[in-house]
Amino acid sequence: MFEIIMGLEVHIQLNTKTKLFCGCSTNFNSKPNTNVCPICLGLPGSLPKANKEAFVKAIKFGNAINATINNNSIFERKNYFYPDSPTGYQISQLQVPIVEFGEFFIEDKEGKEKRIRINRAHLETDAGKSIHQNTNSLVDLNRCGIPLLEIVTEPDFKSYEEVDYYLKELQTLVRHLDISDANMQEGSFRCDVNISIRPKGEDKLYTRVEIKNMNSFKFIQQAIKYETLRQIECWEDDVYDTEVRQETRLFDVNDGITKPMRGKEEANDYRYFPDPDLKEITLTEEILELGSYLPELPKDKLDRYINKLKISKKDAKRIISDITLSHIFDDFTNGGLDPKICITWLLVEYQGRINKEEYKSRTSDITMTDLATIIMMVQHNQISGKSGKLILDYIVEKRNNINEIVETIVDKLGLKQNNDIKELEKIVAQVITDNSKVIEEYKSGKKKVIGSLIGKIIKETKNSFNPKIINEILIKKIN
Ligand code: ZN
Ligand code: MN
Repeated sequence: MFEIIMGLEVHIQLNTKTKLFCGCSTNFNSKPNTNVCPICLGLPGSLPKANKEAFVKAIKFGNAINATINNNSIFERKNYFYPDSPTGYQISQLQVPIVEFGEFFIEDKEGKEKRIRINRAHLETDAGKSIHQNTNSLVDLNRCGIPLLEIVTEPDFKSYEEVDYYLKELQTLVRHLDISDANMQEGSFRCDVNISIRPKGEDKLYTRVEIKNMNSFKFIQQAIKYETLRQIECWEDDVYDTEVRQETRLFDVNDGITKPMRGKEEANDYRYFPDPDLKEITLTEEILELGSYLPELPKDKLDRYINKLKISKKDAKRIISDITLSHIFDDFTNGGLDPKICITWLLVEYQGRINKEEYKSRTSDITMTDLATIIMMVQHNQISGKSGKLILDYIVEKRNNINEIVETIVDKLGLKQNNDIKELEKIVAQVITDNSKVIEEYKSGKKKVIGSLIGKIIKETKNSFNPKIINEILIKKIN
């Protein structure tokens, strides 16, 4: 029986406006090689200047994971040749990272809280991008010098599920901190996994293999499964010492296997040395203070949603894991809308329509004002839930042509509920008088017959009252 031991290195791109050591834009959608200057191109004579915003964001992360913030950190050059790195080195932090010794809590398989030790989080520059097309290779240097925060854990993960939980929660945290878009497709959240195995009961750590640069949760799962199985089979076939080497492997998404990329370098292979153009960094009071302002953290939000707003844990987690929905939900509930009604409308009705293939291009037509108005009208019994859904469908289908506000649509489709209770009571009384036989049946225990009366009242009132209210008044009157 074997045990799997994993540690993670996650690179997140910080969402600063400009790069780490120059004023170039970090815009993802710019034309290739337009966001470049002598500094990020590493031209002779250029001098880097550190970007305050990147430090503030790194400190925020450190504070969110109860870490030590090192007031004096240093930048080193990590030397290696890459076609998309014009400087020939990466500016990184080896000896003194800005953030050290933090903690992150996940749930293990049994749902018990488990503490993951964060060894460090350091600032470094990103490289450019190589794009391979048939026989040509193109290089885009826009990404060169964009700030990365590399977050390194201790080898505390025992299963794929724990890794998955950590990555998703980490992604949620950095989005709530507003320090990164953490978008895997755009490469602003990239993951390396270090994997080793050992017979259960042993303390020794065996050879660790690094699988690099994965940018999808699905591939990470496949890669971990494949690589652990490979190592276990090598052990059982008695070829562990020759086949499992300390190396960097890549996950081949087409074949679903890991392949050797290069022997793993030791730190001294990179000939790290302090960057002579950047003196030791001393964090000012101002920067430390800016980094101490944290928004409500996901774990506090979860607590508040469950205990104060009485939302189920499952729904609360779904809202929090989506930063956009989470902001909408907070705005709506802070504005007085009922949390439970909001949950239904956001998670079921709104998201359901966003995720529908045929609606995809159109759901942007549902504005937050529309949604809030519908929820408010449902909450105050001005329209029924069913009418609310009709209105959403109407907006999705028609909004590109007509610009109508929800109130106009309600009038146009005749969906407004009548709230004149006196009028309703009169009609109910009449229906009771006209149906004395049914009332007797009801009183003798045939509770189901009341349905036919409700149907009659709905017909009589032309569907303008909420059936729930009709039911309440009818039962009150009969008794
Ligand atoms: Zn630049
Ligand atoms: Mn790195």
